[in-house]
Formats: sequence, structure tokens, C-alpha cells
Amino acid sequence: MDTYMTFTAYGDNAGEALEKAEKEIHTLESEWSVTDENSEIYAVNHSNGNVVTLSEDTAGVVSFALEMAKETDGALEPTIYPVLTAWGFTTDENRIPGNEEIQSLLSRVGYEKVELNGQKIHLPEGMELDLGAVGKGYAGDLTAEIVKESGVTSALLNIGGNVQTVGSRPDGNDWRLAIRSPYGDGEVGVLEVSDCAVVTSGNYERYFTGEDGKRYGHIIDPKTGYPVDNGLASVTIVTEEGKMGDALSTSMFVKGLEGAQEYWKSHEGFDMILMTEDGEIYLTEGIENNFTLTDSFSNMEKHIIRR
Ligand code: ADP
Ligand code: MG
Repeated sequence: MDTYMTFTAYGDNAGEALEKAEKEIHTLESEWSVTDENSEIYAVNHSNGNVVTLSEDTAGVVSFALEMAKETDGALEPTIYPVLTAWGFTTDENRIPGNEEIQSLLSRVGYEKVELNGQKIHLPEGMELDLGAVGKGYAGDLTAEIVKESGVTSALLNIGGNVQTVGSRPDGNDWRLAIRSPYGDGEVGVLEVSDCAVVTSGNYERYFTGEDGKRYGHIIDPKTGYPVDNGLASVTIVTEEGKMGDALSTSMFVKGLEGAQEYWKSHEGFDMILMTEDGEIYLTEGIENNFTLTDSFSNMEKHIIRR
């Protein structure tokens, strides 16, 4: 998944649990990679419009991605890959495509054109699927499940910045998770939580600076085909399941400060931390008392979002 992962488990079965978890991640990687020629997603993307039969796990993650695309009104767009490629994010040879090129690529994008029936998928010719925005979260859920099945009740799984907590700390207290600063080095705050996923999206990790001096990040606004540039620096989602956290972190980042608040007010089951490029922080009320700013960020302007 083109990232680093660190798993920590406590208790008697920790070693065995971690071995199984690592194996699971490698399996999922080989099924979901867009670039690995043996992956299921690769097969779908090179099916020339023919029906492909997916494994259960892959059908599950694709089905979830399509549902969330609908629920977020296309802010999450699992078929954005052709546009992502044009910007060079898939090869690290970044460039700024022309407007005509972007418009023509957008005609090959649209989750509603993907047909999934059980494990059978039909992707129209010319379209490409990419699980980059939800795969790590989904993998986190499946891995956490395996760790629990091994009898572990306390573990911390960090999958490229997506944190999945199993239970609480071995001493029974909440985990203390540092929330990285999207503005440079350091940590903005500490979040104290148990048994949940904490997933962040932002434009501060994968981006390039164009010849025009502007910063272009790897999350694309599917409505325009351009990298998101809406004043948000990062979005952190706190929720029960990693897949939901991952889908929402990307899509709320696309929706922006106003759109994300609107979505939260009409959907249960998650909390979020939004940080703006001009240094303000917004927290939803459910985690108001679980989050503390670090000393170096203590004078950030803090807002609480209430229903
Ligand atoms: P990260 O991979 O940094 O944790 P995200 O979960 O937000 O971040 O996923 C970003 C990835 O999702 C991009 O690298 C790209 O593969 C893909 N992507 C970019 N824009 C979108 C979008 N609007 N909807 C779905 N996937 C996207
Ligand atoms: Mg995501």
C-alpha cells in the first residue's frame, strides 16, 4: 500500500496475532494494489469492459467504496484514478494537466457507472478503480479482527497514519494518540480514545509544488478534476470502523469546512477534527473532552461544532 505500518500488541498471544496480521496485510495488498499486475484491482482495470469475479474481501471493499461514494454525493470517487494519473500522482512525475485534458478524463470517471452484483463486477472500458482512499482503513478493520480472534484485547495498529485501536491500553486507560501538525513538524494535540479508528487526510504529505509555485495535493475534487484547494489543511475522523474513517477523511476533506460540518450534522457515528490553512481548529462535540492541544499550538483558535 506504498506506506509504513507499525503494529503493537500486548498480552500472551501478541506474537502470534502480529504474525497473522502481517500476513493478512500482504494478502490484501496483493489483491487491492492498482499497480501489481497480479492484483484483482489490476484485473478489473484491464478487463476491457468484461465482467470479473472478485474475492469476498475485495468485493466487500469495493461495495463499501461505492456506497460511500453515493452517500457523500461523489466527494469520495473510487474511479478518480485516470485524473490522478494525469497529475502524475501515481508515478511521482508530477505535472499540471491542461483544462481540456482534465475535462476529457473526467468523462471516464463516475462511480455510478460501476456495476457490482455480489462478487461480479463490470467496469466500463476506459475506467479505472482505485482503493487508495479506503483500502488502508478497510485493511485495518480486517487486521484488528484477526488480532482480536487471537485473543489479544489491547493493540495499536498504525497503517500509514491510519490508527486502529483494539481495546484500551494494557493498564485500562485510553490510548493517547498524537495528532500531527499539517503545518510542519510537531504535534497539534493529543486525542485520548479506546476501541476506535483515527484516520487523517490532508495535502501535507503527498503533494508537489507546481511551476506556478502553488502546492498541489493528492486528493482530487471529483467535481473539478483539480487537487482540493478549499482552505482545509487536514481532516481527522474518529469512528468505530477504519473503513468508515478512511472514506470520511478523504471525502470530508473534499467537501471542505462548510460541507463537512453539514454532512456531520446529518450523519451519526463519527467525530472529526478539521484544521484550516489559516490555523484554526474545529472539533465536533463528541470528542471535545478527549482532545488537548499541545503547548506549542495552545493559542490556535478552537471552535466546537454542535448538532
Ligand atoms: P492517505 O492515502 O494519504 O492516507 P487518503 O485516505 O485521503 O489519504 O487517500 C488518498 C488517495 O485516494 C489518493 O492518493 C488517491 O489514490 C485517492 N483519491 C484521491 N482523490 C480521491 C477522491 N476524491 N475520492 C477517492 N479517492 C481519491
Ligand atoms: Mg481516506
